[in-house]
Amino acid sequence: MTVRTRFAPSPTGYLHIGGARTALFCYLFARKHGGQFILRIEDTDQQRSSQESVQAILDGMEWLGLDYDEGPFYQTQRFDRYREVVQQLMDSGHAYHCYSTPEEIDAMRELATANKEKPRYNGFWRDNTDAPPEGVKPVVRFKNPLAGKVTIDDAVKGDIVIDNAELDDLVIMRSDGTPTYNLTVVVDDMDMEISHVIRGDDHINNTPRQINILEALGAKRPIYAHLPMILGEDGKRMSKRHGAVSVMQYEAEGFLPEALLNYLVRLGWSHQDQELFTSDEMRKLFTLEAVNRSGSVFDNKKLEWVNQQYFQNANAEHLGLALQPYMDSLSIATSEGYPLGEVGLLLNDRAKTLVEMAESARYFYEAPQAYDEKAAKKQFKNASADILQNAAQRLDALGGWDALAIQAALDACAEALGIGFGKLGQPLRLAVTGGTQSPSMADTIALIKKDDVLARLNKAIAVCQAAPA
Ligand code: GLU
Repeated sequence: MTVRTRFAPSPTGYLHIGGARTALFCYLFARKHGGQFILRIEDTDQQRSSQESVQAILDGMEWLGLDYDEGPFYQTQRFDRYREVVQQLMDSGHAYHCYSTPEEIDAMRELATANKEKPRYNGFWRDNTDAPPEGVKPVVRFKNPLAGKVTIDDAVKGDIVIDNAELDDLVIMRSDGTPTYNLTVVVDDMDMEISHVIRGDDHINNTPRQINILEALGAKRPIYAHLPMILGEDGKRMSKRHGAVSVMQYEAEGFLPEALLNYLVRLGWSHQDQELFTSDEMRKLFTLEAVNRSGSVFDNKKLEWVNQQYFQNANAEHLGLALQPYMDSLSIATSEGYPLGEVGLLLNDRAKTLVEMAESARYFYEAPQAYDEKAAKKQFKNASADILQNAAQRLDALGGWDALAIQAALDACAEALGIGFGKLGQPLRLAVTGGTQSPSMADTIALIKKDDVLARLNKAIAVCQAAPA
């Protein structure tokens, strides 16, 4: 069997975390089996769909690197085909015109509720040969089988059995001639020869209806795999209330796309107790059998941890490219300094996001505009002037500019002055970075141009000299 999966978002908002995970699982499953992954935009609800949302979905897919083999297909471009299939169902006796007014349907529902039954359409026009009422534009309803059961052999949830008696005759075409969701999905899954429908379990109720329509059309049914929901920390379905849900928001906050994918693949799927996967590993190892049956809680702390693991395993070039846009958005020019990737590698065990990393990378490219006030009071005493002066002279005298040589010069300075390293290191850190937090002084200084370091030291020496003796 050729594996063909599809991601079928409705463009009624951004690509959210749940959608991205569905897309990822569809993508991985297709890749694992050498099949095709299809993107289908379900934009038939024209009031709620927008071009902006379509773009947001395409951007999200691109940022995550979820490349599709076919599509994007747009359902609004397939209305003729849906009409054709509705006609086919009418002709084969599987669908019928229903003239019931909204008021009549409300009354049917109320009656059913009063009888403690599910509110439903009672099939009034199903086999009715009365003359249709004048001036009423009918909807088309699907003739759901009256008896029997539908068994969904779900690849994640196992067997799910639904009695046909529970299902009423679904509207497949509205009175204005537009098709409804369950019809368009069925036609597309059939025409696009989808072998595996992998989607959120919020669609489980639609599945028996879709299977019945597929069967009426004589089409082969795909394998269904319904993914459990992603939950917020309070155990409720993840939504905006729980923080960022748009995929692009994670980009803005400084997550690497590969880290987000790695986090998402573990959200509802596992392979032994492995946490980190290369994209190749994900494509090789992914199976539907190992998808959890119950919901998974989105844990921002764990996502940050995964992101940090990716920083630590990245090479300088990759990290530099990833970090650059965040430097740009802080207007920090990096072209004159040492390679950004080297700086990133030095900062990678502190920063959890690229935004944090960019903020801490500023002093590698710009002299401090101001000093941390509290620290300056403590460190920039008159007596520090000589210490910094001594260090500056030794640094100036260095032939090479690397962390080892710099460390040796600083050690020699502390020794010559008979002081502990802290007495030198603290004012030095403040002079060079403007603050009190940085990687080791030698590593930090080695990634700032020598002339710049000396200029920063001279400026700090002047501040110290101006302090009361
Ligand atoms: N368009 C539906 C949604 O965005 C998905 C339909 C499907 O996957 O079958 O929820």
